[in-house]
Amino acid sequence: MYDVVIIGSGPAGLSASIYAKRAGLNAVTIEKSPFSGGQVVNTYEVDNYPGLPGINGFDMGMKFREHADKLGCEFLTANVSCIRKKSEKENLLQAASVNTCGAEEEVFLIETNQGIIESRTVVAAMGAVHAKLGIPGEEELAGMGVSYCATCDGAFFKGRTTAVIGGGDVAIEDAIFLARGCEKVYLIHRRDELRGAEILQKELKSLSNVEIIWDTVAEKIEGEDQVETLMLKNVKSGEQRNLSVDGVFVAVGILPESMLLRDIADCDEKGYVVAGEDGVSSMPGLFVAGDVRTKKLRQIITAAADGANAITSVQEYLLRGKK
Ligand code: NAP
Repeated sequence: MYDVVIIGSGPAGLSASIYAKRAGLNAVTIEKSPFSGGQVVNTYEVDNYPGLPGINGFDMGMKFREHADKLGCEFLTANVSCIRKKSEKENLLQAASVNTCGAEEEVFLIETNQGIIESRTVVAAMGAVHAKLGIPGEEELAGMGVSYCATCDGAFFKGRTTAVIGGGDVAIEDAIFLARGCEKVYLIHRRDELRGAEILQKELKSLSNVEIIWDTVAEKIEGEDQVETLMLKNVKSGEQRNLSVDGVFVAVGILPESMLLRDIADCDEKGYVVAGEDGVSSMPGLFVAGDVRTKKLRQIITAAADGANAITSVQEYLLRGKK
């Protein structure tokens, strides 16, 4: 029986692991692959985390993990399929046979492909995944020129022409990154103003091989075995045009990885678990941290802070239970 099971090993999960260990809690962190690391590992450069200017995202993820390993945090590589509270019947059965878990104690069962784990609390830090455009050709040509990660796949497009779709931090960072190797990069944005940070916009606009196509949406991606053409439409004039490109990088935001939580905790219309800075969700004993929760600013630093806050809430919850 764990005090806390932390699900996810991005900055929020790893920060929660570190805080849980230092608080003397019996904790395990579940990650999908031996080193998940979260979205940060696919970021070329992180320049807004105090004390680590310009650090490579992968190196940063490694540093977080090394810190947790150094403290002796426990990790388990597994896929979680269900998170639920143990039913009264299950509690009574166990109390009668083993006499360890009192029938009155609320326990979470975390079902995984490595077995069922029992815990008094859960910190859900599953983060978010890339949103899709949902246009013809996107799915068919995924991995054949359509990508959601410039730092992972950008090197394949050295000396070639690519398009980035989106206007947020990720789209701008992707375009800047691609411009270092590509002959030409188009940034296609549906409005006439970018959403991403001013400092990134300034850098982007200074690059001679980047062209921003404003007020434009992608309608279709075409190609035989590889991306060849991107069909565009200007949302103001209605004018359509075809752009010859070798790669399309989709950066139109993120979707919370909250499927496992939607039946047990309140979520907003976009699927983010409703919780404040303390990570307290609508289900007692379930805490959320990082990109999966409702919040204004989704950054590495706010995710790391969430992990720390969630463990503080876990400690308060466990103490209340002992009184
Ligand atoms: P984001 O900030 O939500 O931006 C998504 C962009 O995609 C927006 O410009 C949006 O247009 C556009 N978009 C959405 N749906 C679209 C569609 N169907 N067709 C065309 N365009 C579409 O997402 P993000 O850039 O992935 O960033 C996610 C979060 O991580 C943000 O909170 C961001 O600040 C954070 N982040 C921070 C850093 C950093 O601090 N270094 C780096 C990366 C990410 P509109 O502008 O018209 O809505």
